[in-house]
Amino acid sequence: MPTQCLFCNIINGTIPAHKVYEDNDVIAFLDINQTTNGHTLVLPKSHFDHFLNTPKAQMNLVMNVAQRIGQAQIQVLHAKGVNILSNALQAAGQTVLHFHVHVIPRYEANDRFKIEMLKHDQHNLLNLPVLANQLKSGINLK
Ligand code: 5GP
Ligand code: ZN
Repeated sequence: MPTQCLFCNIINGTIPAHKVYEDNDVIAFLDINQTTNGHTLVLPKSHFDHFLNTPKAQMNLVMNVAQRIGQAQIQVLHAKGVNILSNALQAAGQTVLHFHVHVIPRYEANDRFKIEMLKHDQHNLLNLPVLANQLKSGINLK
């Protein structure tokens, strides 16, 4: 059945990609934009829109492959470190709505990948106990 999803079309072979790993459940291929050399996307073959609605079993399979790809980036590409990242929903920068994990090898401080966690300028106005309790009450314990 034709699909609008770019990554489903890579999975079903309609759109080509440079695959680095594939099994029954998971595929990994090079990101078309090589932020750093070896930047790889890892995703479940089944379609789930994003990290937040992907079932645990699929998530675990994807993370397991992401870990092995990170290890390969260190071993064969001689990366000095690895960042893993999943953008969930548009506000977080997600552009392809099929859950995927970026595995980004890092080589030096001034490569093309940058993620900055800026200091909160009004930290004293935050109520950390209230925030923590709010989040705690929203966590699905199943
Ligand atoms: P997101 O922005 O959703 O976290 O990541 C989507 C990623 O898919 C981007 O890093 C983008 O470069 C990559 N991408 C977009 N189109 C293609 C494509 O046709 N082939 C491959 N291999 N990657 C793509
Ligand atoms: Zn898809």
